[in-house]
Amino acid sequence: MLKFITLCAIFTLISFTSCKSSNKEKEFHKKEHQTHWTYAGETAPEHWAEIEKNSDCGGKKQSPINIIDVDTKPQVEKENPLNILYSPSTKLKQAINNGHSIQFDFETGDSIQYKGNTYFLLQLHFHEPSEHTINGVRFPLEIHLVHKSKSNKYTVMSILAKEGTKSQLFEFFESFLPIKEKETKEIHKPLDLSTLFPENTNFYSYGGSLTTPPCTESVNWMVFKEPIIISVDEVLKLKSNMPKDNYRNEQPLNDRVVTLNKYNE
Ligand SMILES: [Zn+2]
Repeated sequence: MLKFITLCAIFTLISFTSCKSSNKEKEFHKKEHQTHWTYAGETAPEHWAEIEKNSDCGGKKQSPINIIDVDTKPQVEKENPLNILYSPSTKLKQAINNGHSIQFDFETGDSIQYKGNTYFLLQLHFHEPSEHTINGVRFPLEIHLVHKSKSNKYTVMSILAKEGTKSQLFEFFESFLPIKEKETKEIHKPLDLSTLFPENTNFYSYGGSLTTPPCTESVNWMVFKEPIIISVDEVLKLKSNMPKDNYRNEQPLNDRVVTLNKYNE
């Protein structure tokens, strides 16, 4: 009898373990698929639409775009549709190297209002060089501040950077580098994001997509016209922690119109 019970116990243990490992295998393949795309080689941006079957990557409203200033439509409304409601001590949660970019995640709380809707700040990350170009000019760096509404709509603010003098805020961001691929560093410190924005906050806006798979469309894009200034060293330090040229190429504008929102001139 005892033998029988032991046998049963062993059998149960084996089936439990094998079941667990097959789940793990599934999870692995899922993860492998999620990180399949890259910025170079056979899984580079020009192949995303074919390799990411259920994505919007082959859609008609994709990002980034080249913004041609003379073709933009000036905004005539008196009131700015964008209201940045960040607190002076935004809570920075963690820094992640996700293999595509260096990303800083925020704790939930800070938000913006855009055209009457509220979008919560999720994270910021970097592209080197920039994804959006203005009049064909590509900048050394682009920062994306990603926001999401309660109904899962995205609003992304883009800040372009050119090289010049040091930025204190970037010194702070980069104090968490280097971060190895797939590594996360816990931060849990407050941060004043107001110094991240250019002095002149005129911005271009248009409807586009996420610039990485699944390239989800219906994203409100706001690209600040004036770049901020960071040092060459600061650009190089970020660059050395990210894949080379982690930007998607320019997407066709199709029938979209880019608006130039001017409120502080
Ligand atoms: Zn981005």
